[in-house]
Amino acid sequence: MFYRGDKLREVFLKAKKDRFGIIASNVVFDSAIRGVIQGYEAQRSDGLLQMSSGAVKFAAGDTKDIETGAQMISSMIKIISSQYKNSGVGLHIDHATPNYFDFVVYCIENDLVSSVMIDASKEKFEENIRISQEVVKIAHKHRVLVEGEIGYIKGAEDEIVSDTQLYTSPSEALEYVKKTSIDLFAASVGTNHGVTKGAQITLNLDLIKEIDDLLIANNVETGIVLHGASGLTAKQQIDAIRNGVVKINKDTRYQMEFAKTTQAYWEKEKNAIVKPDNIDEADYTIDKSRFDPRKWLIHSEKAMQAAVEELVQITGSAGKSILL
Ligand SMILES: [Zn+2]
Repeated sequence: MFYRGDKLREVFLKAKKDRFGIIASNVVFDSAIRGVIQGYEAQRSDGLLQMSSGAVKFAAGDTKDIETGAQMISSMIKIISSQYKNSGVGLHIDHATPNYFDFVVYCIENDLVSSVMIDASKEKFEENIRISQEVVKIAHKHRVLVEGEIGYIKGAEDEIVSDTQLYTSPSEALEYVKKTSIDLFAASVGTNHGVTKGAQITLNLDLIKEIDDLLIANNVETGIVLHGASGLTAKQQIDAIRNGVVKINKDTRYQMEFAKTTQAYWEKEKNAIVKPDNIDEADYTIDKSRFDPRKWLIHSEKAMQAAVEELVQITGSAGKSILL
């Protein structure tokens, strides 16, 4: 089923209490959405799907109209998830910078999303607080959750590029969370957006715990979010969850699974659409039974589903849906 913000809040409260992680999966198109939702359902795990500014532009087609794109992604998720009863999903806006403020408000007021991220981390600290407060005010009126961030997470994610890695300072985190009343806090603790390998990352897990402990001690406990988590090892993710992380973002991992599976299919089935050199033109016919998009896209869809199923087992959310 589809979770609005109030249900999603229950999901994160349970995750924080029982120390498991909710996977937030970036999606754009229907095969990815089905793969992800079916993966959560198969494992009876709640989960999030998230859309970036680039995703909504792509979904709209040539117009790149972000409101149309968001309507389309949200509708697909609501309709597909309505078939399932053993798990629920929410829809989140990933990394909305201040220039997407009106878009965020549009999605909240039109009931398209369960949660939003306002990423004003490139602004001055005081300005970040002010913008985040504004988003929280509107979102909470509609019971939509808000994720905020301070510091930079290195790498390129969609339209956001950052060359620097700034570890989050716990005292700034406390001030930010206190002043903004955000529900989810994205901490910069050494992960990278994009393609990375776990072993190369200097993940500061103690910093997550330090931030979480400080927020708890000040009665402003929030869920901590780990961005750029595609390259992390299973152990790194489990340790991060133990230290207070409740939302783990995944994008690159799915893109790799999708591309790899499509590539493997066409490497094997190339002659369905391309005549091999050793066959005469007269003896060759293309093979619709193999190039029909449904025939090859399904493999990538299932590969994404398998990735989701593996991830929710690692983060411990399998079998923990609030619906069970
Ligand atoms: Zn991110």
